[in-house]
Amino acid sequence: MEFEKKPSNFIRDIIDADIASGKNKGRVHTRFPPEPNGYLHIGHAKSVCLNFGLARDYKGLCNLRFDDTNPEKEEVEYVDSIREDVRWLGFDWEDREYYASDYFDALFQHALTLIKQGKAYVCDLSPEEQRQHRGTFNEPGKNSPDRDRTVEENLDLFERMRQGEFEEGSRVLRAKIDMASPNITMRDPTIYRIKKASHHRTGDAWCIYPMYDFTHCISDSIEGITHSICTLEFENNRPLYDWFLIALGIHRPRQIEFARLNLTHTLLSKRILLKLVRQKIVSGWNDPRMPTISGFRRRGYTPSSIRAFCDKIGVAKFNSTIDRVLLENSIREELNKTAPRVMAVLDPLKVVITNYPEGKIEEMEAVNNPEDPAAGARKLPFSRELYIEREDFREDAPPKFFRLVPGGEVRLRYGYFIKCEKVIKDASGRIAELHCTHDPETRGGNHPPDGRKVKGTIHWVSAGHMFRAEVRLYDPLFTAKDPADVPEGKDILVNLNPKSLEVVSPAFLEPSLKDAKPGERFQFERLGYFFVDPVDSGPGRPVFNRIVTLRDTWEKIEKKG
Ligand code: ATP
Ligand code: MG
Repeated sequence: MEFEKKPSNFIRDIIDADIASGKNKGRVHTRFPPEPNGYLHIGHAKSVCLNFGLARDYKGLCNLRFDDTNPEKEEVEYVDSIREDVRWLGFDWEDREYYASDYFDALFQHALTLIKQGKAYVCDLSPEEQRQHRGTFNEPGKNSPDRDRTVEENLDLFERMRQGEFEEGSRVLRAKIDMASPNITMRDPTIYRIKKASHHRTGDAWCIYPMYDFTHCISDSIEGITHSICTLEFENNRPLYDWFLIALGIHRPRQIEFARLNLTHTLLSKRILLKLVRQKIVSGWNDPRMPTISGFRRRGYTPSSIRAFCDKIGVAKFNSTIDRVLLENSIREELNKTAPRVMAVLDPLKVVITNYPEGKIEEMEAVNNPEDPAAGARKLPFSRELYIEREDFREDAPPKFFRLVPGGEVRLRYGYFIKCEKVIKDASGRIAELHCTHDPETRGGNHPPDGRKVKGTIHWVSAGHMFRAEVRLYDPLFTAKDPADVPEGKDILVNLNPKSLEVVSPAFLEPSLKDAKPGERFQFERLGYFFVDPVDSGPGRPVFNRIVTLRDTWEKIEKKG
């Protein structure tokens, strides 16, 4: 696959300086460290593209490391989905797939080392007492009464913690740093806690589990990582990251923090995404409305469009929120060049062309993609009875309405100019069909010899030839621009968009679409880009997901509403 050379950013500047100074012998080794407690989302894609992208550009390596220290939340399903998603994004970790749980023995030995150095102790305070001792932002913490236990006593207690002698929550192992540190993270943080839970990889071998801060830096160190890139929330944890590695005297990667991705109308938090799945608000982690990689994949996004988006937004040191439109533009730009164009009618209104012979069928030539001459052309059947989009006709049209009106003329794309002669209504007053005439001299949609012009061109399908299929239209899951902005005491779900999914069943499609295969993408003229759903489509029975509209209609809808 081809990648362009990326513009500089502050992380590249740091790496360039490290290489120039001969640090790590010029090596660049990064890692992507997901916790397997959910599916990856578009924020993770930013981190994947960054870490694997740096390794690629500096001819270095990037590891995939599952940060699986928390036995209760992790599942094999998540591990599998993460591998699939990283691979789909176009990245390869070769044989470097690691698990923090592989390091449980090493971590335990390192904890023993800290105890022997007098830098760690077993603390018997209850979680509540520990919290009270911790102090606040303005007040220093208080030392634990157990802080001065002897090395022998600590070794004995820690070993017995490991043997399962004590109850969960009764004791922890803590680093002995500084209860008065202005950085609360440094106030004797917990290193190990008792958890009598089975682990998805180590089974019941352990009943004590290491904490994130202790595990992460040592895992990075063991793997020879040079640049450990994480999100800004970990800035306060950096002194602790360094403290452990300095105390243990082992290889010290450089932690660099960058701003996490936030997107408008989107929540990027596994906890909340899990809630949407559990409460069946969506059909699963790969629901096409989900901001997960698997959701975008099923919606019809391409890996290249997601990579292009991640390149475009870049990396910065301050948090901001990116407009969803940027992500949508990225897939629009790509599909504009690659997706064949077809015609489909979502909300059909029948048109009878009264001066077109009954039974006559013409094969009109339709260009597959004006942006790509190599895409060729196809035949489109034209007949006396057609369907157009209901909203392309108005009886009481506003001045700038350039589509069909009573007595007005419009071009049917690749068809003819037609003129509306008569509006037929049903008993309830709803428009049932239009009677139109066509100008035979405008075949193919071309201007007639008299040079007459029309302002509007609309799409259509032939009634006798079209076929019916289900089409799914999506809008963001959350109406609020910042879905996390909820009134005090209210659940985040109050911001859910009740109309995030609209099923059009059936839509009327041009006959060529009958052979559409799962995974194919099309532009439905004037309606957007669509993807044949790989899950719900059957042979000869495609189901279409709208990937994105042709323009940014959502913001407009929002302003109206
Ligand atoms: P969440 O907050 O969504 O549950 P997390 O940070 O707990 O995510 P991890 O599995 O720990 O998820 O993340 C793996 C990597 O992806 C980490 O390095 C993390 O910093 C990065 N990451 C997570 N969310 C984002 C985001 N929104 N933007 C950029 N990077 C992210
Ligand atoms: Mg996490």
